[in-house]
Amino acid sequence: MTTLADPVPGGRPGDLRRVAALTDDLAARGVRGIVLAYVDTAGVGRVKTVPTARLEAAVAWGVGMSPVFDTFLADDSIVTTDVLGSPDGDLRLYPDLDHLVALAGQPGWAWAPVDRITQEGTRHPGCSRTFLRHLVTDAAERHGLAFKAAIEIEWAVGLGSAPAGEFQPAVRGPAYGAIRQVELSDYTADLLAAFAAQEVDVEQLHPEYAAGQFEISVGALDPVAAADRSVLVRQTIRAVAQRHDLRVSFTPSVSAEGVGSGGHLHLSCWRDGVNLHAGGERRYGMTAEAESFAAGVLARLPALTAVTAPSPASYLRLKPSRWAGVFTAWGRETREAALRVITGTAGRRDQDANLEVKPVDLAANPYLALGCVIAAGLDGLATALSLPEEITGDPARYGMDEAAALGVRRLPQSLPRAVEEFRADQVLRDALGPVLADAVIAVRLGEAAAVAGLDDAQVAAAYRWTY
Ligand code: GLU
Ligand code: MG
Repeated sequence: MTTLADPVPGGRPGDLRRVAALTDDLAARGVRGIVLAYVDTAGVGRVKTVPTARLEAAVAWGVGMSPVFDTFLADDSIVTTDVLGSPDGDLRLYPDLDHLVALAGQPGWAWAPVDRITQEGTRHPGCSRTFLRHLVTDAAERHGLAFKAAIEIEWAVGLGSAPAGEFQPAVRGPAYGAIRQVELSDYTADLLAAFAAQEVDVEQLHPEYAAGQFEISVGALDPVAAADRSVLVRQTIRAVAQRHDLRVSFTPSVSAEGVGSGGHLHLSCWRDGVNLHAGGERRYGMTAEAESFAAGVLARLPALTAVTAPSPASYLRLKPSRWAGVFTAWGRETREAALRVITGTAGRRDQDANLEVKPVDLAANPYLALGCVIAAGLDGLATALSLPEEITGDPARYGMDEAAALGVRRLPQSLPRAVEEFRADQVLRDALGPVLADAVIAVRLGEAAAVAGLDDAQVAAAYRWTY
């Protein structure tokens, strides 16, 4: 479970009580330093590190870092909003000890996600993890709702020996192919060992469709823990790859052509330990609440795209007929609908039924993506929305009239178009609060400006090794 209490100057009492023993244990296991990790608005992982002996000080007083990273672009240039992007000020990074993990792929290091607060000890409105933590706490307190979430991870595995900047797939052979599994046998076995050591419950690992592409899925957790885990899983995949002279990328489109890499988001709503997506009166066993939640997500997908597909490279991936889900439609087990209703197998539905949101990639900040999807769902619940007709098959086959009659829209096809949708979406902006919402807009427009005039191949190259 995730610590739900905000950090406070001097330290959270529970953390102070256990940090000395934890530090001794880490030191005994050869851990020399702690990676303090968060994700910025552009979706880039940023870190500071401290020696293990400084963990206690970090738990009590945090570690300093400028708020300017909230408006960094993926290329490390800086944009500004009314309140962010200035060289002034400082924040304190507080590790969440509940999610501190000794890194099996990086001997000598442990890792912990952080919440960022001001030097005065107040909430930093630009902290995406704090945003998600508060949203989840409010949903529990106000509606008695809990969530389970998981983020799938697709990535491209390239040869470490490739010329600088280039991607050369590290495996040959067909999609889902046995050849690929054999060729990266040692790497993937080491990955599984690392995840086992880190207590990440891997559900599946397989060679995917695109050149050099693999995918891993992990068990569902509370949303904050699921977002943390997606960051940790990527850190591990990268670290283990490096030890095999491989180079990995989580970018949405490692090359401009063909299938990209997604970060499909799985989510279910629970009340009193009961899954609201199973055993109900509505289609496919959904309860009325689960249907309204799903309808809320569906209704806001065009605006959500600015958060879930945040990079110019995201729009190289978001193409029809590639299982990326680029139409505002839902269907049971429909891989071309943006919203896939998953019932699970008979006998396990009360555990497994969930929603899958497809137009999400791994350039997305997972805390913002999960928070905004949940906010959209909660608005659907509050307004008792119903789902429209479900679709079957690939919506790409519809003519304009047929699509319009079914209410099926293509999602934004560029980042500036997604920003227009986001700007107009009061529900998402209110959920994020003005500071984060403005940061999202400024950073997205900054990314779009940074690639103005580039062709698709140049856009893919620009973000190839950022994520
Ligand atoms: N690679 C696809 C994407 O871009 C997803 C394939 C799948 O359904 O696993 O999202
Ligand atoms: Mg996949």
